[in-house]
Amino acid sequence: MCLMKYKGNPVSPGIGLGNVYLYKPFNMEVAEATITKDSTEAAVQQYLDLRDKAHEELIAIKEELLLTGNNDKACIVDAQASMLLDVMMNSEVEKLIRDSLFSLESAVEKTYSKYADIFSKAKSQQIRERATDLKDLKTRLHRIWFGVEEQSLASLEKEAIIVAHDLFPSDTARLDRSKVLAIVTEIGGSTSHSAIIARSYEIPAILGIDGIMKKLTDGEPVIVDAIEGVLHTSPEKSTYDHYTKVLLSYLEQAREIKQYLDVEPVTQDGTRIEVNLNIGSEKPEELSGSPYTDGVGLFRTEFMYMEGSTLPTEEEQYLAYRKVALEFGKRPVIIRTLDIGGDKQIESFKLPKEENPFLGLRALRLCFGNPSLFQTQIRAVLRAACHGNLWLMLPMVGSLDDIRKAKEMIEEVKKDLDKEGVEYVANIPVGIMIEIPAIALIAELVSEEVDFASIGTNDLCQYLTAVDRLNPAVSEYYQSYHPAMLRLIKHIVSAFSAAGKSISVCGELGGEPAAVALLIGIGLRKLSMGMSSIPKIKKLITGLTIEKAEALAEKAMTCKTANEVEQCLKEGIKNLI
Ligand code: PEP
Ligand code: MG
Repeated sequence: MCLMKYKGNPVSPGIGLGNVYLYKPFNMEVAEATITKDSTEAAVQQYLDLRDKAHEELIAIKEELLLTGNNDKACIVDAQASMLLDVMMNSEVEKLIRDSLFSLESAVEKTYSKYADIFSKAKSQQIRERATDLKDLKTRLHRIWFGVEEQSLASLEKEAIIVAHDLFPSDTARLDRSKVLAIVTEIGGSTSHSAIIARSYEIPAILGIDGIMKKLTDGEPVIVDAIEGVLHTSPEKSTYDHYTKVLLSYLEQAREIKQYLDVEPVTQDGTRIEVNLNIGSEKPEELSGSPYTDGVGLFRTEFMYMEGSTLPTEEEQYLAYRKVALEFGKRPVIIRTLDIGGDKQIESFKLPKEENPFLGLRALRLCFGNPSLFQTQIRAVLRAACHGNLWLMLPMVGSLDDIRKAKEMIEEVKKDLDKEGVEYVANIPVGIMIEIPAIALIAELVSEEVDFASIGTNDLCQYLTAVDRLNPAVSEYYQSYHPAMLRLIKHIVSAFSAAGKSISVCGELGGEPAAVALLIGIGLRKLSMGMSSIPKIKKLITGLTIEKAEALAEKAMTCKTANEVEQCLKEGIKNLI
């Protein structure tokens, strides 16, 4: 092993010292295959051996979980182990092999998928959850059959540095954050969902180190410097000692800045700036920012759809939204309707294969094509709104037609609820995300049709600069500080302010101090960000005056390139961060 340094994109700051865990999730599509009549008995026996092996694996996992006090998880694993021995299921696999001459893997695929499908449509939630177990079992059987080791980010044995080609939001949603020291991936940009999650979990992360999976071995010691964006392999003692010091000083600095978590975000000259929270679920760790914020500026509900292999029901969603509504009380909670497609795939809903998914059937467009998906969510939100102050926000809106169509659908849902005599809030505020340049440019028309808007700078930049936000090969062209971004954001803020409608920024720029100084300078008074950004943004706000922010914004508006803008802003806030 030799000492090497690899450069990537540091998307979540921090230092990770530890051993590599190469994450290559098993994900194989099993094509239908048949065998000859004379090999069926051997195949049946192989299936029975395979099933017993899978059973042994599950029992070993269960015992391990019991030993470590994870009794709930142990019960789930135990239930899966029992399902493997189900007589009906096993005889169906055997029948498919013997009578229809399907290969072992095809027979497993067909049987387990068939029952998972049946279970996923059941009325009872308990039965629907069994569908997930069946899919897990099918993957386990296939994985053992194809001789692949088990990997799961939900139950890491020890602390590790996760190195992966990419992490899907479904991987990060299940991540055991207490064991992950750092994340390194081959692809993904600073506004990819892996990056957003890493920041919100405060896990150091470097994304976009091309080909790194092949360069590292499992268990090898590395240092992840996610401040500079450098991964060190085979570190010498001196490097290790150096980084131990850097880590300690980083933690000290983080502790110091955390003191600002609790301060009132008021500028030196007395202007109150609204600081809201971005969340991805109703889980307690996501809601931990509640005491320090004015509300939820963005609830990315798609994460709820990514966790399981079945779609969340109306009741499950209602309970989740109600929990957040109750937590925030009178403070607004902006629920963004389902934003899947693009990089966000979900197991429970087959999305069409598209050449350009970011320009395709994403978010609202997908909901228009699948009304029941949208209606279920709207019903849940309208009902949960009785318990707090919920607002509804539509993502990926491209035209007034989109807004009108979505509003019509919302009205239809209200009529259904009326007919059924179900309690709900009829006058819920309805707003949009501004992330497509076409809608940004007609902001003044939009402001007449919606109650509020929030600027999604992550996608706005992607669509304005024509750069895939996930592709490291073009990350240098993804310029959030592009003068065109500044002009467009200013145009939106002015239009909404003139109309007296609420406008905020909930993309990643809303949590970046340099950008926030500019946003306040152009008149924005409402921000939303991940939990980890709150202390540093509050620190910045309390050190600013509106006059200073305006002067800085004016200067930044005269800059000609993204780099000039960024330098100008960073220089301007040097003493405030
Ligand atoms: C955005 O695009 O800025 C945004 C907040 O939405 P997401 O990052 O979830 O696409
Ligand atoms: Mg977006």
